[in-house]
Amino acid sequence: MATVSAGRNAARKARYLMECQRTYFREPLTLVSGRGAYVTDDAGRQYLDFFAGIAVLLVGHSHPKVNAAVHDQIDKLTHTSTLYLTEPMLDLAERIVEAAPAGLDKVFFGNSGTEANEVAAALARHFTGAKDFIALDHAYHGRSMWTIGVSGLAAYRNFGAEPQHVAFAPNAYCYRCPLQLTYPSCGIACAKAIEDVIATQTSGGVAAFYAETIQGVGGIITPPPEYYTVVKEILDRHGILFIADEVQTAWGRLGRSMFGISDWGVTPDIVTSAKGLGNGFPISIVIARREVADAYKGPHINTFGGNPVSARAALATLEIVEEDGLAANAQRMGARLMDGLRELALRRPLIGDVRGRGLMIGVELVRDRATKEPAGAATEAVVDACRDAGLLVGRGGVHGSVIRIQPPLIITSAQVDDALAMFDTALAAAELVYPCA
Ligand code: PMP
Repeated sequence: MATVSAGRNAARKARYLMECQRTYFREPLTLVSGRGAYVTDDAGRQYLDFFAGIAVLLVGHSHPKVNAAVHDQIDKLTHTSTLYLTEPMLDLAERIVEAAPAGLDKVFFGNSGTEANEVAAALARHFTGAKDFIALDHAYHGRSMWTIGVSGLAAYRNFGAEPQHVAFAPNAYCYRCPLQLTYPSCGIACAKAIEDVIATQTSGGVAAFYAETIQGVGGIITPPPEYYTVVKEILDRHGILFIADEVQTAWGRLGRSMFGISDWGVTPDIVTSAKGLGNGFPISIVIARREVADAYKGPHINTFGGNPVSARAALATLEIVEEDGLAANAQRMGARLMDGLRELALRRPLIGDVRGRGLMIGVELVRDRATKEPAGAATEAVVDACRDAGLLVGRGGVHGSVIRIQPPLIITSAQVDDALAMFDTALAAAELVYPCA
């Protein structure tokens, strides 16, 4: 499906963009417009976007209300720096505190998930006076030197950033249990293992435990319902803060609460988020308990944090999520997708596991269901074949063998059914090249 501009853009990418800036597909896709759940490429071809700019566009591309808020703001004031206040920034802080679990009541604004996680670490160290952190295997928290250190995916620790004062605990990867146990008879042993990690891998002075509520890049690893209660009890006993990285899981994506972690019945000490909040405009937040927030006096300057344009985009996005009942839609559409994927699994042997919550769904592909041999190459072929069929999906997992489905929360039943049909076509195409055992 190459076009003249596709060839030209691939050449310009190779010439002008750094190698480290990866794009999907051997022939990169250049997008020129988007509306709702669809995007259009430079050849005029439309795709159903079920990855939403890496789990970002909660209310879809180019939403008229977000655009109107942004247009209004850019005609008034586009930037002030964090040295001055703006109404949109304060309105947003107020709105976020209202939406957050009780007890989380002070906000810091940044520009990316990475930056939010940096600030969260600073808060935890200042509040506790301790140095160490515990993170999870297969975690992804960003691309700065510090956040690489708390990332538990070898592929993303690729320039020698040595983790400093970071210990890793087994993740709740039930499909491939790191402890070779089976849920629920395991008794959530992976959560209990944190106790051993504290005793054997840290100095005893642990500032915080870091976890993505559901691991995204790591392959939509979805902890069982009891997991965080067990974790929190251990952390509380040791005076360790819980930092929930909700960069992907907040704002209704998981189908119920504004902060996904609420579904597990615990309240973290610090939450970070970004991605969907600005519906594509760069903005991130850290929200923390007042005494934790107050322990960090800074100064922590950032030039663009909470800028008024992104803040207006975020305010409009949150309003739409609420007024249009998008969390409930995420739950309904997520259930429909899950049912459809489980039905596909009956006749597509590539599918080893289907998991997730709301509209954060992972489909793990295997070469052989009995051995669970990861199907990394087939997964790449499926992502390519989805594109050919007119569907954009993501890829993740420690073996690169998980299809990530994280569409806008506005999707309809008809779009879910179209996506399932295209996914089926893509699986069939990949199974011809990569037959299962
Ligand atoms: N945390 C999580 C859970 C993420 O998924 C990501 C991005 N994929 C980040 C942090 C980093 O966010 P950003 O790319 O905005 O820096």
